[in-house]
Amino acid sequence: MIKTDVLILGGGLAGLSTAYHLNKISKLSSLIIEKEARPGGTASSISKKGFTFDFTGHLLHLHNPYGKAFIQDLLKGNLRELKRSSWIYSHEVLTRYPFQANTYGLPDPVIDECLFGFLKTVHRPRGNEKKTSSLSFKDWALKNFGEGICKHFLFPYNEKLWQRPLDSMTTEWQGRFVPAPKVSEVLHGALMDQKKAFGYNASFLYPRKGGIQSLPNALASRLKKSQIVLDSEVLSIDLKTNQALIKNLGIVSFKRLVNTIPLDQFISLIKDIPSGIEKATSELSSNSVYCLNLGVFGKVTQKKHWIYFPEKKYPFYRVGFYHEFSPFNAPKKSSSLYVEFSRNSKSKVNLSQLESLALKALKDCKILGSENRVIVKEWIPISCGYVVYDFKRTKALNVIFPYLARKKVESIGRYGAWKYSFMEEAIMDGKRCAEKLALC
Ligand SMILES: Cc1cc2nc3c(=O)[nH]c(=O)nc-3n(C[C@H](O)[C@H](O)[C@H](O)COP(=O)(O)OP(=O)(O)OC[C@H]3O[C@@H](n4cnc5c(N)ncnc54)[C@H](O)[C@@H]3O)c2cc1C
Repeated sequence: MIKTDVLILGGGLAGLSTAYHLNKISKLSSLIIEKEARPGGTASSISKKGFTFDFTGHLLHLHNPYGKAFIQDLLKGNLRELKRSSWIYSHEVLTRYPFQANTYGLPDPVIDECLFGFLKTVHRPRGNEKKTSSLSFKDWALKNFGEGICKHFLFPYNEKLWQRPLDSMTTEWQGRFVPAPKVSEVLHGALMDQKKAFGYNASFLYPRKGGIQSLPNALASRLKKSQIVLDSEVLSIDLKTNQALIKNLGIVSFKRLVNTIPLDQFISLIKDIPSGIEKATSELSSNSVYCLNLGVFGKVTQKKHWIYFPEKKYPFYRVGFYHEFSPFNAPKKSSSLYVEFSRNSKSKVNLSQLESLALKALKDCKILGSENRVIVKEWIPISCGYVVYDFKRTKALNVIFPYLARKKVESIGRYGAWKYSFMEEAIMDGKRCAEKLALC
């Protein structure tokens, strides 16, 4: 039987970072079990016929001083800094992101609706005095942005992304993700083309070569080869005996367990799980992201990184351009695109139907022209793409996490901790987890 001090489930950034930091600060042995043939999880890339596709756009926006220095060191000499160029396509017009601060260029009646609605929120605030934390996302958006901005962007876009009524969702996730411009900025952006950069990702870093896969590869290369088992899978976990059954390895015994695989899947692998925990887990919801990657001959949409599509007639919520992140992501005279769809994780999806709709819509909005020829089509389904912040989530987590803590299990990363987070945060989660384990 294989024995390790720390068994780490999942070789994405959180799992890799845990093992790396354990090596650095402790004598504890650790072993990562990864289902796929490569490390990286959702921060992976696929190369085909000279195109490099990520699992939709994966841009590095670094906020933590340690995370920033660490990632810059991992990707030394292989990073480009880019100023975000993101847009919204609606009413057959492209406007700058974020919509709420950039209505200039839209048809006049739309600008009027957005502006009047927004100004009403300022001089005649809605009577809803509930704390932000108890408002639904829908009420919060109406209260802060007014009816026009909600009608023309925030509601249709978020309904497409979240695939559920917005009054069932909380505001816990939106903090840094929904920019809140000042009144003067909303006015300015309605009267003229405002070039001010808003939001947390106004500029970002991206690998020059190798797609985002270069990041987990660089991290994995700092581990001992024997520390990560690829093409393997956790099949079941016994928390009474501290043993896990692993595909291709058999039983692995551990002193401490670190989980980074989606929390609901992880719980389903634990033997003899108490019914209360099982019930709480059944309250967790997530969305699947279906990413259609396209390798296209000919140049498309120059100097734009990605475009949001709020309108129902477009089946995708966002389209992005990998070749604008790095010219090495596509062969010369070619373009590399990602097209993103979201569905409730429980829904069945017909990918060939979605593909036909997408290709037609890409022509309708003139992203693809007659001179373009699609050379490669590559679907990447991300079965757990976005954790849903509905009103059941916090209640359920308040039952699940104390149970895991009693069992001395750490559950971290975007899906292990069941949260909306980013690559840098996954790396920081791993660091914090290693520091905690090293103290035990
Ligand atoms: C559509 C989308 C866009 C995103 N864009 C950005 C962005 O622009 N910038 C940014 O910073 N972040 C972005 N992110 C978030 C980023 O991908 C994640 O925060 C980060 O990569 C999560 O790492 P993780 O290790 O927590 O999880 P994961 O990467 O999911 O790692 C978990 C690992 O567990 C493995 N696994 C699952 N089940 C098993 C099993 N039974 N046995 C063994 N292994 C298993 C998986 O294969 C995976 O490798 C985006 C995410 C999505 C979905």
